[in-house]
Amino acid sequence: MTHGGEGMTGRDAPGAAPGGARGSRIVNIFANGDPASAKAESCFKERLGAAGFDVPGEFSPEAELIVCIGGDGSLLNTLARLGFPDIPIIGVNTGHLGFFQELQPHETEEFISIYLDGGYKIQSLKAVSAEIIGSGGRSCVKGLNEIVIRGAYSHVASLNIYIGDSFIETFRGDGIAVATPAGSTAYNYALGGSIVDPRLDLLQVTPIAPINNSSYRSFTSGILLPPHMSVNIFPEYTKNSDILIAADGIEEMYSSVAHIHVAFSESTVQLLRLPNYDFWNKVKTKLL
Ligand code: NAP
Repeated sequence: MTHGGEGMTGRDAPGAAPGGARGSRIVNIFANGDPASAKAESCFKERLGAAGFDVPGEFSPEAELIVCIGGDGSLLNTLARLGFPDIPIIGVNTGHLGFFQELQPHETEEFISIYLDGGYKIQSLKAVSAEIIGSGGRSCVKGLNEIVIRGAYSHVASLNIYIGDSFIETFRGDGIAVATPAGSTAYNYALGGSIVDPRLDLLQVTPIAPINNSSYRSFTSGILLPPHMSVNIFPEYTKNSDILIAADGIEEMYSSVAHIHVAFSESTVQLLRLPNYDFWNKVKTKLL
């Protein structure tokens, strides 16, 4: 396995994960509902079976690897559904943008051989979390790309924003996104935020349609924060007491939220990359 370069680190050996240590080596496979994904799934299952891996029908926490077939959206949904398991994951792209997805379906055989030889890289990506505190108690959501906080029912969001303990301003606009480096190429990019090389350890706070007029002043550019700093948001309510919070596009409406604490999560996603992976090449071919 390759160490170093592109912010990559490695595990000791492919079989060193939980499943491999105790006999049978388990791989979990998840596919979206596309016919191309179903085809790639059965091909992967067959080849992994032939290579001696056990591929159970349901999620096994003992697995040493997760194979996710679909697009970036499928990978994000799989992580959310499984609660960000500490198991390396490889994405197989079946006709989507595929920023996280590293393989094409026809590369299955080649990948299994690279995997068995330990010739892959692991890209460790930190997730971002939001702790939501209000009259309904406390809850927490997590995303690999971003946390978005926006006004409910298309109303303007009024958000008192603190960086750490320092009050910055009462932001007014559609809302804000707090993106990880991994998520900088997703919604953040569409909002005019910066593309961040994942070797940089920072959070980016990006405004969504900030209002600037003679009554209101709201920040207009992205704000970059060091990894130990958090964003504390205290919403103000006028028309209703609801607010929308989305983690990687999974949105929920909350009532009477007093405080939202957004910071890097303890969870990291261990994304498998092929030896020739290059972030900026991916940016060039997929985004620019
Ligand atoms: P989705 O349909 O699953 O994804 C929307 C698009 O964003 C897809 O093309 C997806 O790639 C791509 N994408 C996801 N993560 C990416 C990343 N890290 N870098 C580059 N592209 C990425 O949409 P969803 O279910 O609503 O939300 C999932 C994510 O989509 C969110 O976390 C958000 O970042 C992004 N999103 C973007 C916009 C926008 O750009 N205006 C709006 C809403 C959400 P695939 O085609 O491979 O799935």
